[in-house]
Amino acid sequence: MGVVAVVNRKGGVGKTTTAVSVAAALALTGHRTLLVDLDPQGSAGRSLAIDVAEGRGSSALFAAKGKPAVGYPTHDALFRLGVLAADLELAGVEAELLADTRRRGRLVDGLGRQRDHWEITVLDVPPALGGLSDAALRAADAVLVPVAADFLALDALRSTLAAVRAGEKARGRSYTPLAILPTFVDRRPATVATVELLEEQFGDLLLTHGIPRSARFDAAAFAGLPIAITAPSSPAALAYAQAAGALHAALRGAPPKKRAEVLKRPAVKKFVRADMREALRDLRRAPAALRDRYRPES
Ligand code: ADP
Ligand code: MG
Repeated sequence: MGVVAVVNRKGGVGKTTTAVSVAAALALTGHRTLLVDLDPQGSAGRSLAIDVAEGRGSSALFAAKGKPAVGYPTHDALFRLGVLAADLELAGVEAELLADTRRRGRLVDGLGRQRDHWEITVLDVPPALGGLSDAALRAADAVLVPVAADFLALDALRSTLAAVRAGEKARGRSYTPLAILPTFVDRRPATVATVELLEEQFGDLLLTHGIPRSARFDAAAFAGLPIAITAPSSPAALAYAQAAGALHAALRGAPPKKRAEVLKRPAVKKFVRADMREALRDLRRAPAALRDRYRPES
């Protein structure tokens, strides 16, 4: 059905957690899902306790004769969730892709060879805008941008959207969907104001109202299982289940578009171009205006 790249230039915003949790939720709702760890740090594979032989992980997707070995989490309910973990060679692939930009198209072919086996492929993308993230944007049909709901994350959103926009231009085809997912959402006024601002700026690009801040994610990664297994009825797990459902609906229902229409919307354009200082000024004003409406509950 499609390849979804989880991207954000900033680290620590919940990319890996989103890729893992959404992929698991899709698998648990009956969809054969392949999770591909494209970050040489290997957090996605590690948080699902996937072992990988050297050269047989996601780096194999970039080799013409590569033989990627798909791993599976150790839980029966996750038999539809395949994982291509990051092997050490992936760092070498990044260096190659920097030296020779043409090789970045190889991921399209590598994933193409996997296509028959999977309905949905979820790519966990590293934060730096290097060769691997560029390759991911070339191979993706859809883009999911987790945004930590705090002031400073918005600058990274701007440059992330600029990169997404460049990706669309290069392909002459828009990502459907291009979705924004607030993460680390809690009740602090500044957080609420940031989510409000995202909703105002991006409206229906927001996949859901967001993922709550929860200590359960660290516990799940420690257990080597997704939160849908370790704490299935927690608000955090339910939020990702809802996000996965919305993503699936958007992947299935959205008609293919020829041009980058979404990114031409005035609000997005303005946001991408605006000077950072202006955005921060707006943001700092926002909590004051919203403080009365969103008093944290005692
Ligand atoms: P990224 O891939 O963008 O660098 P991660 O998904 O690795 O970010 O998340 C960074 C850290 O924050 C991890 O320790 C993860 O467990 C934790 N984390 C992610 N999402 C949440 C959340 N909603 N609430 C609390 N902690 C989270
Ligand atoms: Mg990560």
